[in-house]
Amino acid sequence: MNIALIAHDKKKQDIINFTVAYAPVLKKHKLFATGTTGTKISDATGLEVHRFQSGPLGGDQQIGAMIAENKMDLVIFFKDPLTAQPHEPDIAALIRLCDVYQIPLASNIASAEIFVHALERGDFDWRKVIRDREEG
Ligand code: PGA
Repeated sequence: MNIALIAHDKKKQDIINFTVAYAPVLKKHKLFATGTTGTKISDATGLEVHRFQSGPLGGDQQIGAMIAENKMDLVIFFKDPLTAQPHEPDIAALIRLCDVYQIPLASNIASAEIFVHALERGDFDWRKVIRDREEG
């Protein structure tokens, strides 16, 4: 599975804690992240993470482009609901694309934990079927 990881600044510690705790599961998948989030995750866990631009510089849009090309299977995006973000339009666009393409999106640590257990159980294997069919 291709998994996107993004966290706003005040949620960076959450994503570090989350990826450290679930590194054994996450390492079985291909990880993508916005710039700063990706650096922090790989520093804390040693996991290999493909890093896009930082969010405010277009990273959310790059992840959105992968969704539009049916190349992203799961998005874990720890949003900060209490701080205004300069790239709010990009964030809204990314969430919108998740809904357009029916891509599972976890916006906080509680839902992300449920996703990880679901991943382990194979609940997202339908994504592989869809991608294989399209890549045909
Ligand atoms: P960052 O971007 O990982 O580069 O901090 C995340 C964001 O703010 O959207």
